[in-house]
Amino acid sequence: MEILKGKSVYKGIAMGKVCVLKNHSDSVKRYHIDDVEAEILRVNEAKEEAINQLMQLYEKALKEVGEAHAAIFEVHQMMLEDDDYTEAIENTIRTQKINAEYATLTTGENFSQMFASMDDDYMKARAADVKDVSDRLVSVLSGAGNDTMTYDEPVIIIADDLTPSETVQLDKEKILAFATVHGSTNSHTAILARMMNIPALIGVPFDLDSIENGIIAVVDGFNSEVILNPVKEVQEKTAKAIREEKEKLQLLQSLKGKENITLDGRKIDVYANIGSVSDVAYVLENDAGGIGLFRSEFLYLGREDFPTEEEQFSAYKQVAEMMAGKKVIIRTLDIGADKQVDYFNLGKEDNPALGYRAIRICLKQPDIFKTQLRALLRASVYGNISIMYPMIISVEEVLAIKEIVEGVRQELEKDGIPYRIPEQGIMIETPAAVMISDELAQVVDFFSVGTNDLTQYTLALDRQNDKLDDFYNPHHKAILRMLEMIVKNAHAHNTWVGICGELGADITLTEEFIRMGIDELSVSPSMVLKVRKKIRETKIQ
Ligand code: PEP
Ligand code: MG
Repeated sequence: MEILKGKSVYKGIAMGKVCVLKNHSDSVKRYHIDDVEAEILRVNEAKEEAINQLMQLYEKALKEVGEAHAAIFEVHQMMLEDDDYTEAIENTIRTQKINAEYATLTTGENFSQMFASMDDDYMKARAADVKDVSDRLVSVLSGAGNDTMTYDEPVIIIADDLTPSETVQLDKEKILAFATVHGSTNSHTAILARMMNIPALIGVPFDLDSIENGIIAVVDGFNSEVILNPVKEVQEKTAKAIREEKEKLQLLQSLKGKENITLDGRKIDVYANIGSVSDVAYVLENDAGGIGLFRSEFLYLGREDFPTEEEQFSAYKQVAEMMAGKKVIIRTLDIGADKQVDYFNLGKEDNPALGYRAIRICLKQPDIFKTQLRALLRASVYGNISIMYPMIISVEEVLAIKEIVEGVRQELEKDGIPYRIPEQGIMIETPAAVMISDELAQVVDFFSVGTNDLTQYTLALDRQNDKLDDFYNPHHKAILRMLEMIVKNAHAHNTWVGICGELGADITLTEEFIRMGIDELSVSPSMVLKVRKKIRETKIQ
């Protein structure tokens, strides 16, 4: 038995056989070839096959995880078609007279290192994509075929890290848990695990070569550990914990259709956060009362150019229609800081979190903003949409936004295009917005507190920096006092208040939130029923 510690990104417990995802590139040998042209032809044929695989993956991802996440496979196709990349492989074959597999592997490694050493965080993140693309080409050249993984029974996936294409290829019905050596809290693995409601650990120091497929393991997200080859007593203890967890989840199912009401009659709305149209399925499955945060910037990520008005209109309309009259709060684009997009040409900034982001871009580049607003006003005809503006620091900003909205309204009116002016609110995620919440409450319909950024800006702690994990404390008295102040100021002007940051799902604070008078909590879909349970067990008076 071996116990390895990691960092839990989604709590839960699972036990089962292990499937270790090993890299094909580990087994590639270097050998001399005589016929250079034949070797280059092999690369070109493999490239075509790899592009075919990526097109199929794109279609699969489009259905399962939506356009924003599927777009990565289009980016991979473009990387494969890049002339510099192909020429570098050909040159290596010509000059060193070596086999295509090895030339592709080393070219991929060189390109990936080049990206990893760039200053720009977005370009740095592309290093993993280059490696992903080149591994695919190597695997086609090695005759590994289409690498779609299939298993007879549900397994625990153990890997170095999971690339976007690996996560999409996984047969989601057959995964018990994830555990990876690398990856961050916001990696594809973590996001997928939260959506799928299964335990996941990152940062586990596995020696992948020494783990055999098919051995039994336990992934314990509560204690942040993986146990390989557990002894009988541990297996029995785990089986009991899994049974208890299952019973708890079943009990939660019985809460579907029930109200979010405390024992002494206080009602509170519990909504869900989403990033794409396809996430609505999780919202409905978990019986959320609405969508409290649709991070619309995901429509802008992983693509080459701005989404058109029609593309956005169709996405917003679809979500509004699927939610059938329930509230859908769509946040206007929150690009910048950690969410970088090439075609915005934002340039490098010394302090991107304090930089040109979110509403600042919208106010400085109103054409981008107007396209989104036109799509939102048009889609509002088809359901109960609200618009929410991020990163607000002043009343003047809200007034400037309202002027732009009015301009868009007049244009639509003039063109005879159907529209509706929806409820409009702001995110409270800067200390400035908290301090003037009495004034802001008079010019908006609602507040939604973004505790992720509010904690970052109040405690002066970069939320992306994992060295600061121990200091990042959203329970800090300063944050809780700010929440109280926001609610008091909002309610004095009949403005309702929600929380859509991660803190909203923290059930150790649910009672305090209700006591403060918070009107709505918007949480990840997998947390909706857990929060409902907590509310129903709470007594305020
Ligand atoms: C927040 O800051 O709390 C929030 C909900 O927005 P995001 O996490 O997308 O910045
Ligand atoms: Mg935020």
